[in-house]
Amino acid sequence: MTEPLSSPPAYAPHAPAAARTSAALAARPDLVVCHECDAVHERITLARGTVARCQRCNALLGRGHVIGTEKLLAFAIASLLLILIGNSAPIVTLDFQGVVSQATLPQAIEATWTAGQPFIAVLTAATALVFPLVFTLLRLYLLGSLVRGIVPRGFVPAMHMLVFVTRWGMPEVFMLGTLVAVVRCASLTSATPGIGLFAYGAVTLLITAITAAGTHTLWKRSGEIGGIA
Ligand SMILES: [Zn+2]
Repeated sequence: MTEPLSSPPAYAPHAPAAARTSAALAARPDLVVCHECDAVHERITLARGTVARCQRCNALLGRGHVIGTEKLLAFAIASLLLILIGNSAPIVTLDFQGVVSQATLPQAIEATWTAGQPFIAVLTAATALVFPLVFTLLRLYLLGSLVRGIVPRGFVPAMHMLVFVTRWGMPEVFMLGTLVAVVRCASLTSATPGIGLFAYGAVTLLITAITAAGTHTLWKRSGEIGGIA
């Protein structure tokens, strides 16, 4: 990306201790710390298709993505709508000798809980519903302000939470698991994937595209705007 800084950012040597502490704890969107070796680099604008790597350990620091903040916001809005559809429409329809039953994702989670599998139910709810929803809402909150030239309140904690939920949101695992279940049910009964499952397929693609864009663009934009709270 750029030359790693040889020393931490310097602060005024005669500034009061409280001011130095405040300066040291202030968010620095103009800097990026390597997550592998903690080397500090200056954050620069990356051209499309280029990647930035740590000068010390070669770890990936950022990616110049073709998707800008406005497109990322559009993706997040589409993702929220599809999550709502995915949770209100049936994910699968079963037809067993003329008896038809359908289930949405929340109904399937509830049925799993009442069937005596609370761990599986909680895991499914967290990775397929809660984390993707929080991921999308955080992106909407951050991008909705950044595209208007405003850094939202709580920007830094929101960015940290975004990294956490990105790690734990796994709609693709839910998708694959459901498809395997549908195929296995096909030998016993007629199982048809529902609109909810197709919506989740689209959510998986959108979240993958959003995640691939990383957070470099958000940090860079916030640094250009300034005034991080
Ligand atoms: Zn490194």
